[in-house]
Amino acid sequence: MLTIAVSKGRIYKEALPLLACAGIVPTCDPESSRKLILPTGDPGVRLLIIRATDVPTYVEYGAADLGIAGKDVLVEHGAGGLYEPLDLEIARCRMMTAGKIGETWEGKRIRVATKYVRIAKRFFAEQGIQAEIIKLYGSMELAPLVGLAECIVDLVDTGNTLKANGLEPRDHIMDISSRLVVNKAAMKTKNQRIKSLIGDLESAINDGTSS
Ligand code: AMP
Repeated sequence: MLTIAVSKGRIYKEALPLLACAGIVPTCDPESSRKLILPTGDPGVRLLIIRATDVPTYVEYGAADLGIAGKDVLVEHGAGGLYEPLDLEIARCRMMTAGKIGETWEGKRIRVATKYVRIAKRFFAEQGIQAEIIKLYGSMELAPLVGLAECIVDLVDTGNTLKANGLEPRDHIMDISSRLVVNKAAMKTKNQRIKSLIGDLESAINDGTSS
């Protein structure tokens, strides 16, 4: 049995056509089903539907052989315990700093609200900017509006969410896309099956299946 961990939402939707090219088609939809383990048309493959931030943990501990996770989540988790053999080139966006339109924080000690504590700490240290990082679990855009922080670090795609809240993007920290991650032991014990899956996904990416 091959177990693949994936999160609901954008990553799942964009991964579906790639998985289909590898012969993996879930038999029900996680948006309408409450099932956390989704069978697929292949009796030897199942999907685990979990929170995006939990994907590296399930894969690292071997509860899932493989996973699909955003680079943001992998960098934040610290991906040392996993193999990351493939950029799936889906769910693309940018990790950016953002603040209130027209407001600058240069030369000041700033407060930064973010889910991405590790990435934010590293970025501001590299810039030589003194920053107090405040951990939030969502709706980061609110923080500058109510004086919790001057700056946020978050994912930006179209920029519409920032704009709708009177914020503007500032520094581009890194490009983000979803990656295939593999448990290190499974890579050895299920090598042929996993290698063939990686090959199928690679061909699907090269054929432009996800775009
Ligand atoms: P946008 O308004 O298109 O810039 O999208 C920004 C909002 O969507 C923010 O709340 C982000 O956290 C979220 N977002 C954008 N792209 C992604 C992605 N690839 N994965 C997860 N969340 C994303």
